Parts: sequence; structure tokens; C-alpha cells
Amino acid sequence: MSRPDAPDFSPVISPILVSACLAGVACRYDGGASPHPEVLRLLAAGRVLPVCPEVLGGLPVPREPVELRQGRAVGRSGLDVTEAFQAGAQRALARAREHGCTSAILKARSPSCGPGQIYDGTFSRTLVPGNGVLAALLKQSGFAVLSEEEL
Ligand code: SF4
Repeated sequence: MSRPDAPDFSPVISPILVSACLAGVACRYDGGASPHPEVLRLLAAGRVLPVCPEVLGGLPVPREPVELRQGRAVGRSGLDVTEAFQAGAQRALARAREHGCTSAILKARSPSCGPGQIYDGTFSRTLVPGNGVLAALLKQSGFAVLSEEEL
């Protein structure tokens, strides 16, 4: 048995940043969630930090769908929400750093979270190479980033 004043040498494991919708949070644009079994398992083990950058940026749930076009985040109506996307991504990065995260599991194809592939901004379900706003920021900041489809 360890003494109460004994130093604690147990390893500190930093959590993995995850898209909150993968952890079962109903924060998607359509008011739903996208729970993923492996992310839920990591959540139950206390190994993840769920964040939704669009909600952190002040956008409501539900909200209109957004795609990235020429570096801007634009809703189907034409509403430009680039500032909210960028503010939310910065807040998510700050939160990740506060918790010592160095890796992330992010929702595939999201204009905020999608790593490596996103829709092309025409709302025609056409995919192109690219990163969502948060995925790009995390990659630039040295994080290891995967989508849930790469687990
Ligand atoms: S912004 Fe990211 S976390 Fe939020 S609903 Fe979209 S994919 Fe999920």
C-alpha cells in the first residue's frame, strides 16, 4: 500500500481531442449526433476531450449547412460564417492545449472538423481534397489528426 504522502509516479496520459458529435453530443447542424463506437469507448475510459468548434464559435444548434468556398465558410443561403468558424477553431485549439492534447480524432468531411477531404462549396455532395477549418489549424499546430473513418 502506498503512503498518502508518497509521490505519484503514475503516468499522465493526455486526452485525445475529439469532435463532440463523435462522442454522442447532439451538436451537428441538423441537431443530431454522430456517435462512433471507438470514440464512445475512449470517452468511457476518460481518454478524450470532446469539442464542437462551430458551437464554440457561437453558432446555434440546429444551423444551416455550411461548406468551404475559396477560403470562406458559407451557408447554403449565402450567409458568411467564416469568423465564427475561425473563432471556434481557435477556442478549440486553446482548450486542447490547456489539456495537453497532441492528437485528434475529427469527423470526416465536416467543413470545420474534416481532415483531408471536404465538400467543394457547391452543395452538390462533391468531395475535394482539403481540410476543415479546425483540422487545418490543428495540423498547422503540430497535432496528429485522423478522421473516425481512419481508426
Ligand atoms: S463542427 Fe465538428 S464537432 Fe461540431 S458538429 Fe460539426 S463535425 Fe461535429
